[in-house]
Amino acid sequence: MPEQKEVSEVGKNCAGCKKPMKKAKRYYRNGAYYCNKNCFKKKLAGEGAEAGAKA
Ligand SMILES: [Zn+2]
Repeated sequence: MPEQKEVSEVGKNCAGCKKPMKKAKRYYRNGAYYCNKNCFKKKLAGEGAEAGAKA
């Protein structure tokens, strides 16, 4: 079999902090990858802050 082009996890960046991460540490949520739950929450909070005011 010929080598197949793989869309690998390598090169995935955290959707929260934009840092590249290893596949072992990825955290998948809502179609995006994050370092962990914290970055996921941060992303949600950030989007919320953009829409409205935050103390
Ligand atoms: Zn992150």
